[in-house]
This record gives sequence, structure tokens and C-alpha cells, in this order.
Amino acid sequence: MNHPAHKTPLNGLTYEQLVELCHRIGVKPVHAERLLASIFRRYNTDIGAITELPAALRNYLSECTSIFVPECTASQQAADGTQKLLLGMPDGKEVETVLIQGSGRLTQCISTQVGCAVGCTFCLTATAGLTRNLSAAEMVSEVFAGQHISGRKVRNLVLMGMGEPLHNYNAVAQFVRIATDPKGMAFSPNRVTLSTSGLVPAMYRMIDDELPCNLAVSLNATTDAVRERIMPINRKYPIAALMKAVRAYITARGNKRVLIEYVLLAGVNDSADDAVRLCELLDGLDCTVNLLPFNPFPGSDFKRPDDAIVTAFRSALASAGKVVVVRESKGREISAACGQLKTETKQQHLRTGG
Ligand code: SAH
Ligand code: SF4
Repeated sequence: MNHPAHKTPLNGLTYEQLVELCHRIGVKPVHAERLLASIFRRYNTDIGAITELPAALRNYLSECTSIFVPECTASQQAADGTQKLLLGMPDGKEVETVLIQGSGRLTQCISTQVGCAVGCTFCLTATAGLTRNLSAAEMVSEVFAGQHISGRKVRNLVLMGMGEPLHNYNAVAQFVRIATDPKGMAFSPNRVTLSTSGLVPAMYRMIDDELPCNLAVSLNATTDAVRERIMPINRKYPIAALMKAVRAYITARGNKRVLIEYVLLAGVNDSADDAVRLCELLDGLDCTVNLLPFNPFPGSDFKRPDDAIVTAFRSALASAGKVVVVRESKGREISAACGQLKTETKQQHLRTGG
């Protein structure tokens, strides 16, 4: 693995940090810009081959830094083109990333943690708890892997893979800044979306820090009683506090539209009354609602609602004037619920004694 512990992971540094590094070793700061373009725009991972850099800088970088590209340890491709990759990190821990084809644009779903501590009862990632946070360099390396494996330019990033991004705020913020730096990866802040289960204080921190990305919130229920049952985080940050933070975010960002995610669980949160309450909660809010029919996985007690229920729920929101999209998990046949490729691969390892 090309990521020894004593070496600084170069793909986790911002432009400002690269300038500082150049300054430290007595190289003109203009080279930081070249380095940034070479690594983050052209996805060059061989420092020795960046011949436009002075030899002194190249030697230093080769000796003291490394660019980490994860190993793809398993992959699955669905008929609709969705590709799931299992990526091995330097310590052997694995995370998933998903490449989603959509009207000519490639969207990549990024994991921010190995596992997750939030414990939502409908989520496969929750079952193993949290192993550790990912570093900014590791998140960047997911994009490198996506880019290399697809051979295409990734257009959109969604932080909706394994983990709760706001439980790993500093590394995620660093990643978002690297991804949106116009001199480097140059993702438009409008094309980077961070999804949270609703860590209210960290949402206010996003506002204060003017984090350059969109906000998506997993609301998933319309009463505190139900939300508490499916998302334990609701005990700490109930719906009223969450919606207040969402409204504060929209106001602070000059009416920036947010994404409201709502997992539809049969008989739990999919009634006509739920649809009415959801409209009330979202009253006057500039948002798009994403309905996510539950993606079943072995061992889960929840069920996906019938198509007729999904359609009725969608129609109820649409007729109340809400912008609503039913987001079928792309590539359902390749076990698209988050965390599932990882779980299946682990079971296979166990079966084969690997
Ligand atoms: N931790 C963050 C981001 C990762 S989860 C969050 O919770 O927002 C991304 C989305 O997948 C969330 O909206 C979550 O509610 C949804 N999700 C998780 N498990 C699901 C499942 N089995 N079926 C459908 N959606 C699911
Ligand atoms: Fe974590 Fe999101 Fe899964 Fe909840 S839905 S357990 S916050 S990854």
C-alpha cells in the first residue's frame, strides 16, 4: 500500500497548505498551484512524473509525502450502469463508493466514515456501529478511484455513503474545500451535497463556516415518536429543533434550496396523515423532497411500501405544491442499500475462509 504512516498524504491538503509546504522547503509558491492542478485536476498520482515541478520539490515530495489511491477489493455493476466499488484503505478497512449514471452526468456517492454511530434502525451501515472516521485524503482518494475506474469525469458528489458526515466535521469540511477549490478538483459547490441525519449544532457550524456545498437532511418521519424509534438521534435533536436549523440554513444562504430525504417504510411513516404532516413541516420551505422507498436487506424488520402507496404519498406532496422526486436506489439488483456490498463481501470471505 503506497501510504506509509510517516508520510504526509498529499491528496488531503488544501491549496493553502500546499503553499505553506512550498514555503517551508524554500520553493516558490507558484509551484503549489502546479502541484494542485496536476494532482487534483489531472488526477496524476505519480509525483516523480510531474516533470514541470523543480527537482528539489519532487524529491521532497517523493520522500516525505504520498498520494494514496485505494485498492478496489470488490465491485458490482447493475444493468442501469450503477457501479458499486469496495475500496481498501491503508489500514485494511473497507468502505463503499457508488458511481451513478444519470442523464450523461456521473454522480459519485462518497463514504465519510467506516461504519456509523448514529444507529438508524432501517440502515445496514448502522448494524456494525462506527469503526473510525475517514481522513480528508481518504475521501479524496475515493474520488480518485471513481475517476480512474470509470475513466470519466465525475460531475456530482453526494456525501451519502457510509457514515454521518457531520460526526466527522473537520475532515469532511477539509474534503469539501479541496473538492470545490476552483484551482484543483473544481467541483461546483452546487454539485456537492452533504447529507446529515440531523446533527443540529454541526448544521449551525456549516452555516458559520460557509461550507461550500448543498445540504440534504434525512427527515424520515413526521412525529417525534416515530422518528425516535427509527433514528435515535431524534432524542437529542427533535424535529422542531432540526427544522429550525434547516430554516436558519436556508435564510443564511440566501434562500438556498435544501434537499429533504424521506425513507418510506411500510406501515411506519407512509400514511396519508404522514403526507399531510410532512407538508406542514415543510410549509414555506424552499426544498426538494426525495422519497426513498426502503431498500430491504437480510435481517431487517422493515418493508418497502407497495408502489401504489409510494405513488399516493408522492401525489399528496405534489398536489400540495411540493417539488418531489421518488429516488429509487439505483442498481437495486446489486444490493444497493448502503453498506450492503461490504456486508456481502464479508460474508463471502467468511464462507471461503478468506
Ligand atoms: N448519514 C447520512 C448520510 C448517509 S445515509 C444520513 O443519514 O443522511 C444516506 C441516505 O440513505 C439517508 O437519507 C438515509 O436515510 C438513507 N437510507 C439509509 N438506509 C436506507 C435503506 N435501507 N433504504 C433506503 N434509504 C436508506
Ligand atoms: Fe448513519 Fe445515515 Fe445510516 Fe443513519 S442512515 S445509520 S446516519 S449512515
